[in-house]
Amino acid sequence: MKEIQLLNELYIFIILILSIVTIVLIRYTVSLRTYLKEFMKVSKDISNKEFDSRVRSQMSGEMGEFAKNFNSMIDTINFTIKDITNKNTQLQSIMKSVSHGILAIDTKGRILLINELAKEMVEGDELLLPEGKSIRQFIKNKIVLESILYNMSSENSVVVQKNISKDIIYKIKIDPVYFKNTDAVIGFIINIEDVTDYVKLENMRKQFVANVSHELKTPLTSIKGFVETLKMTENLDTDTKTRFLGIIENETTRLSRLIDDILLLSTVENKVKKKVEKVDLFEIFEEIHEIVGYIAKDKNIKIDYQFENQDIDLWEYSGYIRQILLNIIENAIKYTGKNGNIKIRQYVKKDKVFIEIQDNGIGIPKEDIDRVFERFYRVDKARSRSVGGTGLGLAITKHMVKALNGDIKLESELGVGSKFTIELPFNREFSKKVS
Ligand code: ADP
Repeated sequence: MKEIQLLNELYIFIILILSIVTIVLIRYTVSLRTYLKEFMKVSKDISNKEFDSRVRSQMSGEMGEFAKNFNSMIDTINFTIKDITNKNTQLQSIMKSVSHGILAIDTKGRILLINELAKEMVEGDELLLPEGKSIRQFIKNKIVLESILYNMSSENSVVVQKNISKDIIYKIKIDPVYFKNTDAVIGFIINIEDVTDYVKLENMRKQFVANVSHELKTPLTSIKGFVETLKMTENLDTDTKTRFLGIIENETTRLSRLIDDILLLSTVENKVKKKVEKVDLFEIFEEIHEIVGYIAKDKNIKIDYQFENQDIDLWEYSGYIRQILLNIIENAIKYTGKNGNIKIRQYVKKDKVFIEIQDNGIGIPKEDIDRVFERFYRVDKARSRSVGGTGLGLAITKHMVKALNGDIKLESELGVGSKFTIELPFNREFSKKVS
């Protein structure tokens, strides 16, 4: 009897234990499911780029530890993505603001990065999204493409200058990119710069130096020759001596004029700061009229003028207007034969004052009209020399007119005459009409 009672108690005990275990297991399973759901929701949020989502559990033990680690992993991802996004934004704005075309490619020639300017410069295929495409597919400008392909095997930086068309010159720099501190090339950064203006300027500078040297050499050679002849020839008659000395004097004057003009051109071109002042246009003209009157008289050239508005005050860089008018009127006298006519007319139209200087001189051939404003350009070199020209007058004039925000135009017919029209504005920065 006692044994049966003991057995019953044991049964009850086992059932009790089993019930407790079952309850604990059920509770654990339920809470595990809740947590799993929570994890699933958060991981879905993260894959939808909602990086603010976190596992909200106060679990203790291993599950709690797992939730903590999971959340801190999201923190790290969030921080890394924000960091990359910031860096990408910075890179994009740098790429946008650089004035060169920038292109990054891998060793197979696939585009990793390209800025807008580079897309234009390489004539990129507008229908393609460049990133990930091969440069062969994307770049339509053959010269640029070949320059890149040809230099892609180089382990050093390469710089090439290419004439893309008649008027465009590019400097293309190809820099290999190495993997960390190794020798392994993993790609290239290509920098494309439009150097057209720079090359043109450089060529002009070289041309100018060559021209100046040549212009200086001619009178110097002549002076040297005559001085040597004077020194070496003992019994020169007085007339010949006087003639030689006269030539030396003329050449010296020409040299001095040439140097003055070169210096003047250089100050105008380099925008050397000059005093800005208000001047009376008619007063300046009258002064010049008086000076050139003497030269014109020698050739019996008549100068007529008509100043429609004699009360014009203009703001200018000191001496510019005087120099402009003097150069053009002097030229009109120089390139007009005896008994010629020069007509000067001034008038105001809208916000500009116009001064026309018209002669009935030798005129300029059609093909030279645009070129006479170039430095040292002369239609007839010998004629310009014989009238004391340096070939710089019109270049100086044009620069001065431009500095005053004005313009100068030329109409001319060979054998008929020339008309120069100078326009100077009454703009706020420079010139003002004083009523
Ligand atoms: P230059 O010192 O030789 O006169 P400019 O620069 O003043 O140099 O003029 C350039 C060239 O333009 C002259 O050499 C001349 O051939 C031509 N030219 C300028 N003005 C006239 C004009 N009024 N009539 C004809 N030709 C002119």
